[in-house]
Amino acid sequence: MSNSKYQKRLFGTNGVRGVCGKDLTPELVLVIGEALGTLRKGCIAVGRDTRTSGETLVMAIKAGLLSTGCDVVDCGVLPTPALQYLVSAHFEGGAMITASHNPPEYNGVKIIDSDGTEMGDEDTLKLEQQIFEPTFSLKPWTQIGHEIHSPGLIRTYIDGIVHHFPEKVGSQMTVIVDPGYGPACLTTPGILTDMGCKVITLNGITDGTFPGRMPEPSPEGLKDLAKLVISSGANFGIAHDGDADRAVFIDNCGQFIEENQEFALFARYVCQQKKGAVVTPVSTSKTVEIVVKNEGSTVTYTPVGSIYVARTMRLLMDEGEEVVFGGEGNGGLIFPGHQFCRDGGMTAAMMVFILASTGQTLSQLIESIPKRSIIKDKIKTSLGPQVLESLKVKYSNDKLDLTDGIKIIRDTSWALVRASGTEPMIRIIVDSDTHECGKIFHQELMNHISKITENTR
Ligand code: MG
Repeated sequence: MSNSKYQKRLFGTNGVRGVCGKDLTPELVLVIGEALGTLRKGCIAVGRDTRTSGETLVMAIKAGLLSTGCDVVDCGVLPTPALQYLVSAHFEGGAMITASHNPPEYNGVKIIDSDGTEMGDEDTLKLEQQIFEPTFSLKPWTQIGHEIHSPGLIRTYIDGIVHHFPEKVGSQMTVIVDPGYGPACLTTPGILTDMGCKVITLNGITDGTFPGRMPEPSPEGLKDLAKLVISSGANFGIAHDGDADRAVFIDNCGQFIEENQEFALFARYVCQQKKGAVVTPVSTSKTVEIVVKNEGSTVTYTPVGSIYVARTMRLLMDEGEEVVFGGEGNGGLIFPGHQFCRDGGMTAAMMVFILASTGQTLSQLIESIPKRSIIKDKIKTSLGPQVLESLKVKYSNDKLDLTDGIKIIRDTSWALVRASGTEPMIRIIVDSDTHECGKIFHQELMNHISKITENTR
């Protein structure tokens, strides 16, 4: 599984992404629609985030699907997890027009399988083959697909989340929601209001120019949210990325919660209720493993990418294992009792439930989660494979995990070195219990890698 993603030419870990009108044109999206419609039958749901290029690209994908005989339901603007939820319940597949956290000029296409998960590697390779060597079955006029109108679907998603929790469980809470002009404007405030919370929104109007903050919910971009949490005395603030599959938090003291700590907080609560496996990529901080093992549960590591997490969760469950939770250290969390994909709306609801159940404030809860030092770095080089081979030899006496790239595991720290599949780049993460220890490990790796890249210049 770890190597297959690198064979893809167009689709990366999160679908196709590019600058609209440059790398990502309506023509390309039309071809993706035709290719998908040739491989899939039945009714395909399409949706989009709030980007200005969304309408054009939705029309293009619909044209491709209809011309190859698929029926189409246009769900309009909605979060990616909302489309995934609807597809798993009602449709044979889905296509989401989104560039997630990327800047406004980007857009992309993410293909959803009938079970609501992102399309796997094998099917994506087949889809790419159709795109690059097209043998489309464009249908004659008698067999062209129909657009079926189905209003109010977004309500099904909101209700699908709210029904997991006791009625009005958040009635004592005030929450500031920052959907960042994205599609969560239409969902997260509604979810939390239905749970009884008093909701105040910030950047809460859908707007593809993103006038107040960029779609990436970074600590710098959330300073207004932090101020509003303090001034309003809210229990917490929540912000989403551009398609709301991720959620990040500001605690009641106005502090941004680092996403690996967020993951650990949710994992701890889930494992306290039920022991089992927590699934996450090899890039996630050891914070999560420490907390999960402390509760008597286990961590299963996957290659980097939420699709690998979701599919591993399903696989383990099919093998009879108890899988309680999954996710990534970027605010993308998967609650298997709800659906097998990252879901920012569900994450928001779950936070309300955890605070109500424990009776503690968010800052109190996060205080007991271990803090670790995380150093992230990248080097521009096309020598990724050579670097990885050389590291395998150099660190052959260390404990290694080769799930994705090379992970060198020591008692107090680990380092992950991966070569990008789509650009000439090596990515490095060093996770340590102290910053000093991390800095030394990072420097040691950099010295070794630069020797290889310089020698072959
Ligand atoms: Mg996203």
